[in-house]
Amino acid sequence: RAKDAGRNTFQFYRPEMNARTHELLLLEGRLRRAIDEGHLVLHYQPQFDLGSRRLVGFEALLRWQPPGEPMISPADFIPLAEDSGLIVPIGEWVLRTACAQNLAWQRQGFSPVRMAVNISPRQFRQSSFIETVDQVLRQSGLDSGWLELEITESCAMENVEATIESLAHLKKRGIHLAIDDFGTGFSSLNYLKRFPISKLKIDRSFVRDINHDPNDAAIAASVIALGRSMNLEVVAEGVETEDQVAFLCSEGCRLGQGFLMGRPLPVDQAEKYLQAASSAG
Ligand code: C2E
Ligand code: MG
Ligand code: MG
Ligand code: MG
Repeated sequence: RAKDAGRNTFQFYRPEMNARTHELLLLEGRLRRAIDEGHLVLHYQPQFDLGSRRLVGFEALLRWQPPGEPMISPADFIPLAEDSGLIVPIGEWVLRTACAQNLAWQRQGFSPVRMAVNISPRQFRQSSFIETVDQVLRQSGLDSGWLELEITESCAMENVEATIESLAHLKKRGIHLAIDDFGTGFSSLNYLKRFPISKLKIDRSFVRDINHDPNDAAIAASVIALGRSMNLEVVAEGVETEDQVAFLCSEGCRLGQGFLMGRPLPVDQAEKYLQAASSAG
């Protein structure tokens, strides 16, 4: 878009740009219809205590499922939703659905677990965001202590003072707050200590080669140490092997999420983790 090209440059007409714009408009139209027609679904990925392998919660992850077509991954449509502003109604739907699902599980008698919901920068910066969260919690009936909101490190750093203020409001309500993709955004540690957060999520890119790449191992170990010293929970994303678990545990990382322990799954399959947790006592 011309706006993104910078203030002092002119955007000249190019035919391929027009084609791209057209394609984006088509996709945007399809996404609007997907919302109305109920083709967005949430999958739920379990999070575990790495020591005991006890289930501690789920992260809600958005999927677009056009009927009779392959699923579209969030990486392929969230940027468009963010640019077009569609992320605001989509994000509200995600929040509402995830809270309702978590309460439904509690009402079915499963031991309560936390539900983490990803909040996009545009959504987080909406002046009505806190009000929306309040409304969703009130209408769903879920206790705020079972909700966790994830914002990415880069989102948190965009406007630090505003971030601190919003996070403080959310924290007052008893909502848990996590910084997602931590380690990718060059946070100033000075700011980090001012964020009223409860959790750091180590980005998957550092976890992947944790057992082979000394730099990644050092970064992961530092994030774990930092989190512990600030009394934050630390969760490793993208855990795929037992060797990674062993390393993470040896460094004192208590929580993990990844294909080794569980993929993001539709409701009925995610529920099996709750059943297993309940029968384990
Ligand atoms: P994220 O919040 O960092 O989510 C973690 C991503 O890592 C998910 O990708 C998950 O499926 C994937 N993952 C988890 N464990 C493993 C593993 O062991 N190995 C590998 N290779 N991948 C693993 P997904 O579901 O494709 O989501 C991608 C990103 O899209 C998310 O990253 C998040 O930033 C965004 N996203 C997803 N759902 C929502 C949503 O409801 N709202 C917003 N604003 N963003 C969302
Ligand atoms: Mg996340
Ligand atoms: Mg993440
Ligand atoms: Mg990530």
